[in-house]
Amino acid sequence: MTEKLYYKSAYIKEFDAKVVSCEQTEKGFCIVLDKTAFYPEGGGQPCDLGTINGIKVTDVQEKGEDVVHYTKEEIAVGEEVHGIIDWERRFDLMVQHSGEHLVSGFINRRFGYNNVGFHIGGEMITIDLDGEITKDELREIEAQTNDYIWENHKAEILYPSPEELKEMQYRSKKELTGEVRIVRFPNGDTCACCGTHVETTSEIGFVKLISVQKFHEGVRIEMLSGKRAYEYIAKAVDENSKISALLSAKVFETSAAVERLLDENQQLKIKLSAAENNAISIIADKYKGIETTTLINQPNFTPDNVRKLAAALIEQNSGMCCVFSGDDENGYKYAVAQKDGDLKALVKEMNTALSGRGGGKPFFAQGSVNAKWADIEEFFKNK
Ligand SMILES: [Zn+2]
Repeated sequence: MTEKLYYKSAYIKEFDAKVVSCEQTEKGFCIVLDKTAFYPEGGGQPCDLGTINGIKVTDVQEKGEDVVHYTKEEIAVGEEVHGIIDWERRFDLMVQHSGEHLVSGFINRRFGYNNVGFHIGGEMITIDLDGEITKDELREIEAQTNDYIWENHKAEILYPSPEELKEMQYRSKKELTGEVRIVRFPNGDTCACCGTHVETTSEIGFVKLISVQKFHEGVRIEMLSGKRAYEYIAKAVDENSKISALLSAKVFETSAAVERLLDENQQLKIKLSAAENNAISIIADKYKGIETTTLINQPNFTPDNVRKLAAALIEQNSGMCCVFSGDDENGYKYAVAQKDGDLKALVKEMNTALSGRGGGKPFFAQGSVNAKWADIEEFFKNK
């Protein structure tokens, strides 16, 4: 059985121990020490990383009563070793984990919802609840949690007797057997948990609840604590500053400025569409009453406008109307149409001759060709 130093104190960063066993496995060498400060993955908290005698620890897992460390190099059984925890990583995990306790605790106190899923990711921490809360309620929980953090409460670790446990109000994800470890933030949260936590709430710094979205029967909350929260906010502030400079808007008025921009954009689209429709009828009028084939190269038309012009032309002409838009380098979009005509064979022939693709109804085909304008003109000569 490994002596778990992380339960003596979550602040042990280095320790001396003796190698009890070292086996080669598919994952590398699997090392058991007589004691360890390496926290194994569990309770939603990822494992510690670091070194043993300078050798990198790649994974730490609980195996029965033992803690097993995986390394790429062998260490002899009986050897005295020195373990060093990657403290930056561990402290971050303690901070994220403790922040999550408080948020889950305050939500549970106010709404009675349970945390049914907890994940510390590389970037984001998520909490899944079995009930729904709104964005406004999320802000209230955030404010309450931060006020509590700044009051600098001390965390307590308790091992209550079964009788004491019966009387205790605490959160727990599963039915517990054997000795139960309780982590209590007085008047904040009481939770059965095997992870590592900060000693005082001020170490968390602050929490930021990023988002709340419907998830299964409840919601998923994204949150960050401490340095991760600070770095997220710093990035968001930088991003907002850029938007502010681009739109010449004050930093707290960027969304109103974007709204105005979107509105202007919408108005421009409406104006552009009217101008395009006007251009289409002017062009259509220019070719009015033609009984032979009309071939038009209209640069910078969208496929939709190519279609609209062809549709307008066949209302006024009995001949075949062929509208192209594009250039020799990138090819041309086309609409080929004739009122009551059957152009299937012609379109097929055109696609073959001009490396094209497309089709449609017998009287109206749309598509594109990968050809030069001179070749297009050549194809339609005598058609
Ligand atoms: Zn915990």
